[in-house]
Amino acid sequence: MSETAVARARAEIDLAALRANVRTLRAHAPAAALMAVVKSDAYGHGAVPCARAALAAGATWLGTATPEEALALRAAGLPGRIMCWLWAPGGPWREAVEADLDLGVSGLWALREVARAARTAGRAARIQLKADTGLGRGGCQPGDWEELVGEALRAEAEGLVRVTGLWSHFACADEPGHPSIDAQLARFREMVGYAEERGVRPEVRHIANSPATLTLPEAHFDLVRTGIATYGISPGPELGTAADLGLRPVMTLWASLALVKRVPAGHGVSYGHQYVTSGDTTLGLVPVGYADGIPRHASGTGPVLVGGKWRTVAGRVAMDQFAVDLGGDTPPVGERAVLFGPGDGGEPTAEDWAQAAGTIAYEIVTRIGTRVPRVYV
Ligand code: PLP
Repeated sequence: MSETAVARARAEIDLAALRANVRTLRAHAPAAALMAVVKSDAYGHGAVPCARAALAAGATWLGTATPEEALALRAAGLPGRIMCWLWAPGGPWREAVEADLDLGVSGLWALREVARAARTAGRAARIQLKADTGLGRGGCQPGDWEELVGEALRAEAEGLVRVTGLWSHFACADEPGHPSIDAQLARFREMVGYAEERGVRPEVRHIANSPATLTLPEAHFDLVRTGIATYGISPGPELGTAADLGLRPVMTLWASLALVKRVPAGHGVSYGHQYVTSGDTTLGLVPVGYADGIPRHASGTGPVLVGGKWRTVAGRVAMDQFAVDLGGDTPPVGERAVLFGPGDGGEPTAEDWAQAAGTIAYEIVTRIGTRVPRVYV
């Protein structure tokens, strides 16, 4: 790129902010180890650089959903404990065992597949039994727990597995005081208690995600698994903003205006002409669209900082671009349009975009597409 070239769009990733967030989260749970959850390419921030930064700041575990994500971290040279939990039958169990991953196991079929892989690999697999304490998604139902624990103990006695963890996941931790939180905690204690009475000796017991790490010390146990807060985003409006929580947003997304032009009153803008200019005005073209992860649901509502002022997406977000109405301002082509960032430069935040699009900030950052280069600052 020549010195005068202007980038179309960039997602700047502030790894110092990520490290600071990890330290803040560790201070919330000083007696527990911290697992940085880096699934989905670290919620869109880039798995390998974020994983390295998290470990440098004191995280001692990494967590992913799929085994492929975990294997990619190992292949990139990331050391230490890496856990993954979302398996389909016929998954890469043997590679996972050989890569020394910790494998979440929710049911008998998975336990049987992992034991078979361990036999072939000639080494014990590290497994972590997941209890469904009330999320109603992954995890073993309480009624099936006895059988899963029994079979895991038999596989352990045969040297095929080592049960390194007992764990679960909350449904409503972002709604402090929700009655399901205490119910899940009670059930978790019961299910862990049962497994330990039968002879399971886990290294770690864990249930806390970001909101529970921030608000619920009794849920910290031996390990907390933080995703969204690691990236400096509040887990939800009931917990306050990132700033209220002492977190710093890690991603700043900006694009360079690709066109600035005067148009007359009554000019329809973008597909469907859902926005029509009310007077003579200036339109700026922001060259990112839904292919880049900008939600089409933010058509007419998404906020963008251009020239020190918030503008709103005018008309529909298209695949590669959208327009903003700049009124009487005529910034130069190439002027930076900041979609979101920490907010302290006057720009919107990912939470603002979530509100504009009727979704959660998790989805806003995770969906930023691969066509937007990540730049580590
Ligand atoms: N643990 C598990 C099993 C998850 O699936 C997730 C993410 O959904 C997390 C932890 C991290 O959650 P959060 O991003 O709310 O911290």
